[in-house]
Amino acid sequence: MKISRRTLLQLTGVSTVMIAFLPKMAFAARNSLRTVRTGIQPGNKTRLVIETADRPSYSITYPTNQIIVTLSNTAANASLKPNLAAGSLVKSITQAQVGDKLQIIANLSQPVSAIPKDQIMILSPNGDNDYRLVLDFAAGQVGAVVASSSKSETKTAPAKKYTIVIDAGHGGKDPGCIGKNGTKEKTVVLAVAKKLKNKLDAAGFQTYLTRSGDTYLKLAQRAKIGEKKHADLFLSLHANANPSRSMKGFSIYTLSEKASDEEARKLADAENAADKIDVSGFEQFDKDIRVALSALQQHAVAEMSVEYASGCAKQFKSMKITQQPGPDVRHAPFAVLRSTVPGALIELGHLSNATEEKLLTSASHQNKLVNAIVKSVKAYNFDV
Ligand SMILES: [Zn+2]
Repeated sequence: MKISRRTLLQLTGVSTVMIAFLPKMAFAARNSLRTVRTGIQPGNKTRLVIETADRPSYSITYPTNQIIVTLSNTAANASLKPNLAAGSLVKSITQAQVGDKLQIIANLSQPVSAIPKDQIMILSPNGDNDYRLVLDFAAGQVGAVVASSSKSETKTAPAKKYTIVIDAGHGGKDPGCIGKNGTKEKTVVLAVAKKLKNKLDAAGFQTYLTRSGDTYLKLAQRAKIGEKKHADLFLSLHANANPSRSMKGFSIYTLSEKASDEEARKLADAENAADKIDVSGFEQFDKDIRVALSALQQHAVAEMSVEYASGCAKQFKSMKITQQPGPDVRHAPFAVLRSTVPGALIELGHLSNATEEKLLTSASHQNKLVNAIVKSVKAYNFDV
């Protein structure tokens, strides 16, 4: 019944991204409403499509038995004739101009709860279509969220549990890197991952581990767990090694085709080499994801990942955890991060450094790392 995330844009992310791209102008071009229509999607979901001349900037509220989409800086369409599909949840659609904002009010036959962001997308113009804001929803998921006022732009807070998949790197026949005193990366990161899971669960998140024991998993399998769980965030935990034993500190990475620097490229090579232990699957998975993700989707996921990663680096620094010299967020083609789920790979420290090897095995330092990550997850804006 679920429509794959892969077929959907992460709308809120996308809109934020696009807005962020535009220079702040005092007089933005005025948008206008073209058409509104509904359809039925697999799983008996209703699809509401709002077509506008320019990329829409919007907010959504959920008064009882209604969905109100408020479009910023948008003019109504006086000759609007909504095209409503038989059997959809939308009984009627009206528009209301409120200053420079346009409200599209969908009157529903049954209540719906706040639509998850992966069920909302903005499509760019193609063929006869202009920009389309697309919302997919089903009846009565959790019960209606009542907005304080139908004219309010305030986002209602859905009682949604955000899902985090925590990936302890390596495992089983793949130990990861090994410290001078024999500390294995796979052991340290699993210990941290389990602590992190406990703290995030306690903080009200829904969390899953890609592995909870000393098992070997291919990188694509790990990424796929994020997809299957419909994760809102994917965190891959690692510790690294450097030829220079004096090199210290944490570093945080997001996915990109090109590495941000030579060091990041080498690190991605090293981490991706985990799959060379059992080569197969990755190429295929990679291709699947590539086909399914539009450039815009990839961009949205990348932007959300960077937003999380830079917030995470900030938390690490505020807790005085040593940072490896370099930028807060680096980028490289990490296989484990290839998915539609925003995420980051965190190198918690250097096992090749004697001081950090000791720290990484100490419960108090592990707790410190966990606390920094929990703070970063709490501070991350899942909705925007
Ligand atoms: Zn690793």
